[in-house]
Amino acid sequence: MSQRTTTPLISHSGQVLSRAVTFQFALDLNSEQRVLFAKCAGARRFTMNHHLARVKENLEVRSTEREVLSASGDTCEPSTPSLSWSGFSFINEFNAWKNGASEDSPVNEDGTRGLAWRHELPGDVFECASVDAARALENFSASRRGERSGAAVGFPRFQAKGKVTPSFRLRNRATSGTAPSCHPIRFSDPAHLRLPRFGQVKLFGPTRKVRRMIEAGRFHIYSATLTQRAGRWTVSLTGVAAQLHQDERSRTNRHAVPVGVDRGIISLCVAADANGVLTQSFEGVKTLKQAQAKLKVANQALARTTPGSKGRQRARGQLAKTHRKVVNTRRYLVHQASSALVDQCQILVIEDLNVAGMVRNRHLARSISDAAMGELSRQLLYKARWHGVEVRVADRFFPSSKTCSGCGEVRNDLDLSTRTYSCGTCGLVIGRDLNAAINLARWQPKEYSPSTLLDPTRVPLLSTA
Ligand SMILES: [Zn+2]
Repeated sequence: MSQRTTTPLISHSGQVLSRAVTFQFALDLNSEQRVLFAKCAGARRFTMNHHLARVKENLEVRSTEREVLSASGDTCEPSTPSLSWSGFSFINEFNAWKNGASEDSPVNEDGTRGLAWRHELPGDVFECASVDAARALENFSASRRGERSGAAVGFPRFQAKGKVTPSFRLRNRATSGTAPSCHPIRFSDPAHLRLPRFGQVKLFGPTRKVRRMIEAGRFHIYSATLTQRAGRWTVSLTGVAAQLHQDERSRTNRHAVPVGVDRGIISLCVAADANGVLTQSFEGVKTLKQAQAKLKVANQALARTTPGSKGRQRARGQLAKTHRKVVNTRRYLVHQASSALVDQCQILVIEDLNVAGMVRNRHLARSISDAAMGELSRQLLYKARWHGVEVRVADRFFPSSKTCSGCGEVRNDLDLSTRTYSCGTCGLVIGRDLNAAINLARWQPKEYSPSTLLDPTRVPLLSTA
């Protein structure tokens, strides 16, 4: 079943599930499970590469044939047919190939045909990898046809061991409406998740919320993605949940006028309405700075080690761990801010971030605020949808920090180190972030449309009709 279902799922308790939700937990695996997980990640790479190689070869053969034909003045199509790139045909092709039913199936030493180690792993690993290969190719072909916005996507890269994040996916193949206790992926107790073919896997952290949602039929797991980052395996349970309660979606006690949210450099972000009321600043930058400083130390330690040595391996592990900590800290702090904002405001105005310009930024304070703001927009967009809050995205060229909120004068000489905005025309002296937040709150969309400028890509859009 696809994640991007357009008809909502009905749970065993009759709930309409249409809100895309993901829960993530760190896993505590035993050594046997670690080996098996690594094998599955390897099988995913293997399967994806199998498809990419087939498609690449097919494209090359056809292109050569076309050249030969055009050299002889012929305009007919190459004789080699093009391959179907659908996930469905990829699954069928790979199943036949690995089970020994296809002409080019591998032949083993004992004369049997088919992939020798196929029974060691859940078949789902191969099928999901086939779907992923098809999806990567679809992105490539949409980009080639000019149907995809953003940077051009090249032919998908081959999955090299050590270069890609080890990961694989399992589906929760349950029929609509069946009780969660019969599902292949389910919680067997508060600390254990049951995965098909793997049995019990131990989880870290509180699972009460997700278990209660599943039991009440308010959340259904579509799939579990297992990923290894910085040496630790995590599981992401992706699925659909019931909409929040109507009271939550149409609350009357929220701030009714637009509230601007600006990136802070001393605080995480500052929120204010057009009159400067509801000034809220969210702290946390200090914590992020400390985490970032540790990252620098870990980076330097890595640089001092010899390539290929045990010490380098250790330093790399330490760096990855520190990095994970920075990301987690940021996510946690930003979650607090985004929840508070959708809780208190009905209309939020944020700036459109120039993501490309954000990537390389040597200014530490700036890069912290960029990263935090990127995460904040992402969270605000999906939480706003859950809670029925509107998010407007001011266009990229709106001079929110350079405009005086007192008289509208635009100062072009404002650099990043200036923490206070003082206006030479009307004499207003105001905090830089607050000034920008007020200007954002006053921003008027030229053509009114609810924000679609920022793409909340990590949250698949589901029909809520
Ligand atoms: Zn002024």
